[in-house]
Amino acid sequence: MEAIDLYAEAWEGIRNSHESGRLAHAYVIVGSPRGNALQFAESFLKLIYCESTEKPCNECTNCHLIDSHKHVDTLWIEPQSKARQIKVDEVRGLVHRMTQTSFDGGWKAGILVSAECMNVNSANILLKTLEEPPPKSVLLLLTDSPQALLPTIISRCQKIVLSEGKTGAKDTLWEAPLMEILRELPPVGGLDASRLAGRLKTILDTVKAEIAGTVEEELGGGDEALDESKLKDVLDARTNARLKEVQAEVFRVMLDWHRDILMLVSKVADEHLIFSNDRNALEEQAAQHTQASALQAIQVVEGMARRLDRNIPPAQIFDEAFRKLVR
Ligand SMILES: [Zn+2]
Repeated sequence: MEAIDLYAEAWEGIRNSHESGRLAHAYVIVGSPRGNALQFAESFLKLIYCESTEKPCNECTNCHLIDSHKHVDTLWIEPQSKARQIKVDEVRGLVHRMTQTSFDGGWKAGILVSAECMNVNSANILLKTLEEPPPKSVLLLLTDSPQALLPTIISRCQKIVLSEGKTGAKDTLWEAPLMEILRELPPVGGLDASRLAGRLKTILDTVKAEIAGTVEEELGGGDEALDESKLKDVLDARTNARLKEVQAEVFRVMLDWHRDILMLVSKVADEHLIFSNDRNALEEQAAQHTQASALQAIQVVEGMARRLDRNIPPAQIFDEAFRKLVR
């Protein structure tokens, strides 16, 4: 039977390599670059940088800095919104940083989100670093399309496969309705907040049903030795694992939306807007915010994701969060 939880398996592998001081210099993490691959990369980095004896503790300064992608010895690059390309200059900057001494004498890490968006020139620059990796450095390449990476890059990285990029739920199932909710923010009162929270819950219920259907089909063709109750356990575990991936993507989109608002409120150059097509809606919402309240909205969304991990009922989480978004 195939592995049920690729994530847990991969995590064990990394933990062991870390404990025995045998981490590779570069990893390709195959999964959703906004979902499970991102989550894995963050846990990986916490393992390296966490100050606690029980790593990762998720509580110490370094763990928090990893969560916010602000740790000084980690450099994140991802494609800019319009061209969806990772530019040469950025890779060059990353490579340069990797060769410098770290700030606290420890590890240096470079993370490429959606690494398949490197063009050939960017990839070739990265390749040089892979051929001669600086000591105590690690590169993490996050991608859902490893086939789009140069074979010479793949061959120099250890590959971690979290998912084949198919969750069984099509993006179309949740993306458009989620955008509709985002455009209607902020809620005008408690009732409106509950209504929007209810819609988000419905979206995720639909996604879950679809995933369960796919998983059931997959299992139907497989192992006959599984009895009824075991089959249900496997079905639930696999469905929930994939639902988590979609949920992570949903929150990432919500987070990006609120980052755009913060950017507009802060009057930062706005060619970096992720949702530039929704400019009007974003500007309208930004007009209702101060910098502090826009920042708080981001924290609310981050809080939603964290609470979901703690198995608090989604309906309750969404309802409370949307109430906090009321302006
Ligand atoms: Zn920690």
